[in-house]
Amino acid sequence: MKKLIDKIQKEATVIDNRVIKVDHFINHMLDTKLLNEIGKEFAETFSDVTKILTIETSGIAFSVATAFHLNNVPVVFAKKQKSLVTGKTNYSTKVHSFTKNTESIVTVSKNFISEDDKILIIDDFLAYGNAATGLIDLVEQANATLVGLGIVIEKAFQDGRKRIEKKGYKVHTLARIKKIKNNKLFF
Ligand code: 5GP
Repeated sequence: MKKLIDKIQKEATVIDNRVIKVDHFINHMLDTKLLNEIGKEFAETFSDVTKILTIETSGIAFSVATAFHLNNVPVVFAKKQKSLVTGKTNYSTKVHSFTKNTESIVTVSKNFISEDDKILIIDDFLAYGNAATGLIDLVEQANATLVGLGIVIEKAFQDGRKRIEKKGYKVHTLARIKKIKNNKLFF
């Protein structure tokens, strides 16, 4: 998506050749015009979706923007729990956080996804694929159908896409970063 790539190229900063900071339009403050265009692009790519699944917090806005262009389907966001006690009413999985280097238990209520659902997963970044494969695990536990994954920024030099495609799922990303060298991004 040219507009997104141009903005990342001009405005993103990089920490230690590995973490891309886009706080002022993706992770802390949101560029709502761009957000709407991102939602439209995902909605044009995926069809026959009954629910969107994401993980709190940064995936929520992109999921809602997409839902507005997909007949206002519901958005479900998986919650990061501190407690290991997740209860029988939730699907749960363990996810390693790339940015925080911590493990969390991620849960979704069994009331909110079911085997009749056709799920689109949306997230802000794809790096090693831990968040994405955790969400895939939740969809599979519910025996729901996974339509595909829509990711705003893919760091293609990490292994996320490979892990998802190995499971047989479609990934659509809007900005693909091939490498980072001297804290500079290459698309
Ligand atoms: P993964 O689970 O694929 O390794 O990493 C994806 C998750 O980590 C995303 O949900 C995102 O929040 C975070 N993340 C990974 N890489 C970056 C990055 O370079 N910048 C930012 N802001 N978040 C990242």
